[in-house]
Amino acid sequence: MNEFVERLIGLHWAEPKPAYDVVIVGGGGHGLATAYYLATRHGINNVCVLERAYIGGGNSGRNTTVIRANYGIPEAVRFYQHSVDLYQGLEEETERSVMHRAKGLLWLAHSEMGVRAERARAEVNTAFGAKTEFVSAQEVKEICPQIDLSGGGEWPVMGGSHYRAGATARHDRVVWAYAEGAMRCGVHVHQRTAVTGLLKDGDRVIGVKTDKGPIAASLVLSAVGGQVTTLASMAGLRLPIRSHPLQAFVTNHYGLEFDPIVASADLLFYASQTARGEMLMGAEIDRQPSYSYRSGHPFIQSCALRAMTLLPFLRNLKILRQWTGVCDMSPDYSPIMGFTGVDGFAITTGWGTWGFKGIPAGGEQMALLIASGEVPELIAPFALDRFARDRTLADRGSAGTH
Ligand SMILES: Cc1cc2nc3c(=O)[nH]c(=O)nc-3n(C[C@H](O)[C@H](O)[C@H](O)COP(=O)(O)OP(=O)(O)OC[C@H]3O[C@@H](n4cnc5c(N)ncnc54)[C@H](O)[C@@H]3O)c2cc1C
Repeated sequence: MNEFVERLIGLHWAEPKPAYDVVIVGGGGHGLATAYYLATRHGINNVCVLERAYIGGGNSGRNTTVIRANYGIPEAVRFYQHSVDLYQGLEEETERSVMHRAKGLLWLAHSEMGVRAERARAEVNTAFGAKTEFVSAQEVKEICPQIDLSGGGEWPVMGGSHYRAGATARHDRVVWAYAEGAMRCGVHVHQRTAVTGLLKDGDRVIGVKTDKGPIAASLVLSAVGGQVTTLASMAGLRLPIRSHPLQAFVTNHYGLEFDPIVASADLLFYASQTARGEMLMGAEIDRQPSYSYRSGHPFIQSCALRAMTLLPFLRNLKILRQWTGVCDMSPDYSPIMGFTGVDGFAITTGWGTWGFKGIPAGGEQMALLIASGEVPELIAPFALDRFARDRTLADRGSAGTH
């Protein structure tokens, strides 16, 4: 974050203390939202967030900002719908504009099987609180006139599911709103402070080693996005997480309004329009696990080709920027939240390609877990031990998971 923005939004940086009740590693959306809710909902403000670079410099500032709850399993639909609801009230709660805008999300089907899948999605979503309707091809055209219903002659649009509450919000503003709200309540945020190890007493985690010195803590929460396996291994934990790069790009300004967020389950891409009028697009993860932030031409080529099949107007636009994040992918494509079995060490991870939408509910529920010591009902299914108990939450509910 640059100094102009820091002054503008009034962030105040404190000197690090030798000890805190809670040390949160990672100044992304999940770490900062947990700090915010600890302070605002539970009065726990002897908390610090340690960020090795700058807040929002990880995936929370690199994503395509889609907020939705139309997932494939009840546990996820309930959780993400709660997050969608919290997002709707976030500007009022934090008194900061995060440029939240409800646009609706269209998930398109191109085959009989796709139609059945979208009908089923609409039923499951609506049953668990995320109202979604099946819409015909003609209704798709009314919602988004730019779509070529013939799909370039190869991918005809046969209908889709329409989740009206689908929204976007400006990602860095979400991060700053949580950071500022937490800091106003006394939480310390330390940028350019990398955690390099964990302080341990036997098996128990009692703090962190940083490049600026040790900090003691009653509880350490890992919220480090794609770097989680490194940190967890310091606690003696081997997590079922692989880190994969995920790329995205924006075009130059498109002169007309493009209202909804459009996704295709078969073509595996999604597109929306930013507040500046650019077309923002994303697709699936890079297959090869890695920590690389390198982006490349093959991704643009393949994603743009698929996008133009349904949205031919894109042919006349130019690609302005492309970037990459490193995603913490869980084997069942669901997040992992909670205590870990290692005393003093909790995690919020497995946010993969879908975690921006989960920031408010993830932060709120992790704060409740830490404050009460009890696992909240909403996140109980997402515990780490689900893999050992054979209770995985398989949900390949987004383009990024393919
Ligand atoms: C291209 C792309 C598009 C996406 N699109 C969407 C979308 O449309 N909708 C959606 O819901 N999700 C999307 N996501 C996923 C979403 O961005 C992430 O799941 C979410 O931001 C994760 O937040 P986080 O706080 O867990 O991690 P991050 O935001 O990555 O924060 C982790 C922080 O930890 C810091 N850190 C790491 N190691 C250390 C250390 N040792 N010491 C101190 N700090 C450390 C990092 O610097 C980083 O700032 C997308 C992701 C990408 C990459």
